[in-house]
Amino acid sequence: MSDNSLRIVWIYPDLLSTYGDQGNALVVERRARQRGLDVARLDVRSDQPIPTSGDIYLIGGGEDRPQRLAAERLRRDGGLYRAVENGAIVFSVCAGYQILGHEFINDLGQREPGLGLLDVVSVRGEGERCVGDVLGDIDPRLGLPPLTGFENHQGVTHLGPTARPLAQVRLGKGNGTGDGTEGAYNDTVFGTYMHGPVLARNPLIADHLLKLALDVNALPPVDDRWYEALRNERIAAAQQPA
Ligand code: GLN
Repeated sequence: MSDNSLRIVWIYPDLLSTYGDQGNALVVERRARQRGLDVARLDVRSDQPIPTSGDIYLIGGGEDRPQRLAAERLRRDGGLYRAVENGAIVFSVCAGYQILGHEFINDLGQREPGLGLLDVVSVRGEGERCVGDVLGDIDPRLGLPPLTGFENHQGVTHLGPTARPLAQVRLGKGNGTGDGTEGAYNDTVFGTYMHGPVLARNPLIADHLLKLALDVNALPPVDDRWYEALRNERIAAAQQPA
């Protein structure tokens, strides 16, 4: 690994990799390499310290108990706070998204503090678990095509004033608050309920993370026909009547 390689950190594969979200790290890594970038990917298990010098950090979904353990260890470790202070980009999914907020309800039914890197609070939804395909429109400020993904969560996430909704759903529940919002972001920290893995289904989000990390407005184009076919198939499937 050279000093100027792009450092991608996949957080806690032993706790938060239940839903295939590790694919997000693979997609970011591949799209960076396709642009000729030198990439160093680091998978950090929950008994290891979080490096503070990464460029892009990815966190996946998980079940309720591993989610609590991951939150405890990330709080105690403190490395992710310092990485964000250093300007790192963070992309999180579902349990990872809830952990980045101020708090969520843990597997013991208690309020568990999160990292407060996103201005969101998650509570336990009283209704049915949110499970199914999702189709949404990403915040136009990000200039990205429609979002597709698969959600599977009981938590409901409320956004505070400094978090923007990542998308507005046309299909599915997203944050589960009934207002149609899905996910949240601020300048450098992103959260979504979308599995899939979401960056395989929405590779231009991966490019957005790369652009932020590299501080560039554009990247050389890559052949996206495979991704487009997958995305169009999922959009068509999501629009089928149940
Ligand atoms: N345990 C959390 C919930 O159900 C997150 C689930 C997930 O990561 N898919 O809300």
